[in-house]
Formats: sequence, structure tokens, C-alpha cells
Amino acid sequence: MLSMKHVSKIYRTDLIETHALSDVNLEVAEGDFVSVTGPSGSGKTTFLNLAGMLETFEEGDYLLDGENIKGLSDNRLSRLRNEKIGFIFQGFNLISDLSLYDNVEVPLIFRGLNRAERKKRIEASLEVVGLASRMRHLPNQLSGGQQQRVAIARALAGKPRFLLADEPTGNLDSLMARQVMDLLQDINKKGTTIIMVTHDPELARRANRNIQILDGQVSDIQQSQLTDMAV
Ligand code: ADP
Ligand code: ADP
Repeated sequence: MLSMKHVSKIYRTDLIETHALSDVNLEVAEGDFVSVTGPSGSGKTTFLNLAGMLETFEEGDYLLDGENIKGLSDNRLSRLRNEKIGFIFQGFNLISDLSLYDNVEVPLIFRGLNRAERKKRIEASLEVVGLASRMRHLPNQLSGGQQQRVAIARALAGKPRFLLADEPTGNLDSLMARQVMDLLQDINKKGTTIIMVTHDPELARRANRNIQILDGQVSDIQQSQLTDMAV
């Protein structure tokens, strides 16, 4: 369970204060699939980065599985992140001169897993995304949709409880976007909680909860309200 209480995030530069998130109160239950929509600049990425403990915040409390992450050391934060959270991004963020196998392996090396355990996880997660037969290929030998599936495999190999996805289909045509979405739904059905930022109302409707961010304010919306959201 992920729980934010009165969380606010302010970016301060010399003269300007940007209230990127204001008084966010939200609980995301285990097993949920949450879409996050909202106009550009409304705070979606900031929200995801806070949820993933990539950014700090000044006000409020954020409890991840009951543990208040406020005030934890960077060390503890990165351990928690490694243990519980997987990320996928719009731009895939694969390393172009490493094979698919090696791309999925990188974060597992950081986690200190031994070679045999890494191999098991890499093969299993590439299997889940349907790319086990391509593991020696380089990213640029794949389509965009396949590259995103490798990025998903990389996230899954860490066995995350929460998968945070920032516009995961933003660089894909609609067919590939739907295929990636099918995969995310399968992963969710197997128990991983997913929070996904998207501009696409059709994909957002496939989540089982929809939240909207407007000017840093987070609220639940009905699926029917998503129709007006196309950017
Ligand atoms: P991401 O979640 O991938 O970071 P954001 O919505 O935060 O995407 O936007 C990242 C950058 O792209 C911002 O500078 C934003 O202004 C721009 N941007 C996002 N969506 C659009 C869009 N639909 N049209 C034009 N620019 C956009
Ligand atoms: P979205 O993802 O919805 O496009 P963001 O979360 O990226 O929105 O940004 C929310 C607001 O915070 C925007 O006004 C943006 O300009 C501002 N912002 C985001 N990151 C920073 C930063 N590192 N420094 C200053 N302002 C930022």
C-alpha cells in the first residue's frame, strides 16, 4: 500500500516558486492499476518521481507499506526503491551497445545478485515479455514496442511490487501502444501494482482507477471524464 498524506512539492529557483504538487492525499491499494492523466506541466512526472522516491518533498507524509519514508537516509531510500519499485519511461532508456540480456542484467548487478540468480531472472523476465529468443540482439535491432518490452523486462527482473510508468507508450504507434498496454495488464493481473502516466484516454480507460492531476492537485475521476482529456 502506498499512502500520501498532505504531500506538497515546491520547486524553488532564485525568484520563482513552483507548487508542483499541492496537498496530495492518496492511497493506492495493493494490486491496483492506476492511470494518471492531466495537462502538460500539471505535476504528473513530479508525482511519479515522489512515489518512486526519486525526489524528496517538504510537506506531508508518504508511507510505503506502512513505513514513513520521510527522513530516511539516501542509502535506505535507494534500498527501498530497489526492493519495491520498478520504473519504465517514455524513452525506454536502454543502453544501445548492450544486448537485451545485458540491459536487463545491469540493475541486477547493482543489486549484488549472483550470476546464476541474475541469469534465472533475466531469462524469466524476457520470457514474460515474449523476447527470450532475442536476448543476444541489440536494442536497435528491435521495434520501439519491443524495446519498451525489454525495459519492462528490466523492471520486472527486480521483482518490484510497484511498477511506475511515465508515458510508457508515448513514443509508440497505437498498435504497439496497445500491445505494451496488454502486457502491463497481464503483469498487473499477476499482482504488481501499476501507476501509469499517460496522455491517451483510451489506454487510461483500461486501468481500474483513474486519477487526474490539475495544477498540482490530485483527484479521482470517472472513466467517462477521460473522453475530454485527449491532448
Ligand atoms: P514526461 O512524463 O515524459 O516527462 P511530461 O508530460 O512531463 O512528459 O512532459 C515532458 C516535457 O514534454 C515537458 O516539457 C512538456 O511540456 C512536454 N510535453 C508533454 N506532453 C506534451 C504534448 N502533448 N505536447 C507538447 N509537449 C508536451
Ligand atoms: P507533467 O509531468 O504533468 O508535465 P511535471 O511534474 O514535469 O509536470 O512539472 C510540474 C511543474 O513543476 C511544472 O510547472 C514544471 O515546470 C515544474 N518543475 C518540474 N521539475 C522541475 C524542476 N526540477 N525545477 C523546477 N521546476 C520544475
